[in-house]
Amino acid sequence: MKNITILGATGSIGLSTLNVISRHLNEYRVFAVSAHSDWKGLLNICKNHRPSFAVLMDEAAAEKLKQAVPSETEVLCGKDSLNAIASHKNTDFVMAAIVGSAGISSTFSAAKAGKRIMLANKESLVLGGTLLINLAKKSGAEIIPVDSEHSAIFQCLKGGSDGLNKIQLTASGGPFLDVPFDELHSVTPSQACDHPNWKMGKKISVDSATMMNKGLEVIEASFLFGLASSEIEVIVHPQSIVHSFVYFNDGSVLSQLGLPDMRSAISYALSYPRRQSSGVKELDLTKESSLDFRSPDMKKYKCLELAYDAIAIGKSAPCTLNAANEVAVEAFLQNKVRFLDIAKIIEKTLKEAPTQHLDTLESVMENDQLSRKIAQSFIGSSD
Ligand code: NAD
Ligand code: MG
Repeated sequence: MKNITILGATGSIGLSTLNVISRHLNEYRVFAVSAHSDWKGLLNICKNHRPSFAVLMDEAAAEKLKQAVPSETEVLCGKDSLNAIASHKNTDFVMAAIVGSAGISSTFSAAKAGKRIMLANKESLVLGGTLLINLAKKSGAEIIPVDSEHSAIFQCLKGGSDGLNKIQLTASGGPFLDVPFDELHSVTPSQACDHPNWKMGKKISVDSATMMNKGLEVIEASFLFGLASSEIEVIVHPQSIVHSFVYFNDGSVLSQLGLPDMRSAISYALSYPRRQSSGVKELDLTKESSLDFRSPDMKKYKCLELAYDAIAIGKSAPCTLNAANEVAVEAFLQNKVRFLDIAKIIEKTLKEAPTQHLDTLESVMENDQLSRKIAQSFIGSSD
């Protein structure tokens, strides 16, 4: 029996994780769960799974949960408590499914404590890639990717990476794939969040529409698989059936396919190196009308280009890119800036922010805060 701690349990990945766990209750126990402020969502989870701990970030929400939760669950509040459940001696596996840079500290706590980290929070690697990988090596923590493309590559590399030439991350192209660039200035948050294939949280949905999600994934892949950005390509595949490719020097190309449902990658991270049922329907290729592939339009998807730029600049640039993106996406969701302003704000922030060496988690967090301030100064003046 493995004790599972789910950070970000009320979100899209968190709920899919609970769905997979519910199918294997003799293998996994939900030990601890967390959410930002959705105490009702967390209460539901506590009633169904009876965890030992439930953590909220918001004090008022934590008070309400305390009054309503079954007695075997201890309710805690704040960042230190999040780190405590991530590194608790009774936690075996940690699902890191908080959105944004808010997830990095708890991922690091889990890494320090040598846990299996099922990593959905790609920002942990984007912000602190080398630090996190080194920390995991030292402690013996396992990092199993949950991002579908990275899970695919991880699965394809099970036989080793000897002779690897390059990898290719597939991208759906998001809801605006066939919308001309000139029409993108007037698209709304609800159009941007209406992803054709995946049901996801709002932030990552907007990132899919700008393709910053793929940009962050290129950075994530470079740290996870130890590759240079020149070895990582992006290919647009609107159906999201093929989940990335690995090219080898003998002409072989390996790939992993499946319906677009995150439970496959989540289930694999839980059961690795075994496999188990996940609830995902079997793929029937005769029912798929076609599988299409094309190169991304870098002019239209400026954010993807900016992510490659950030890797080239190196040091703190990926962290700065991510912070500026989080600020810009939030402003877009609140109708404070327009869709095309997102890339402009990120570009300006990358130019203005200092490029510095980040060798501790504290310096990463300081750079994140500084970059947020700089990005914030461009909101409302992004023309
Ligand atoms: P979501 O918005 O649906 O859920 C986010 C979760 O994090 C919620 O439980 C929320 O309460 C919690 N949270 C939000 N802000 C927080 C804060 N400041 N402190 C603590 N907790 C906070 O997001 P999601 O779509 O489930 O994505 C989660 C992560 O997984 C992201 O990093 C995303 O990039 C990654 N990811 C998601 C998908 C997907 O299909 N949804 C696929 C690949 C990777
Ligand atoms: Mg992905």
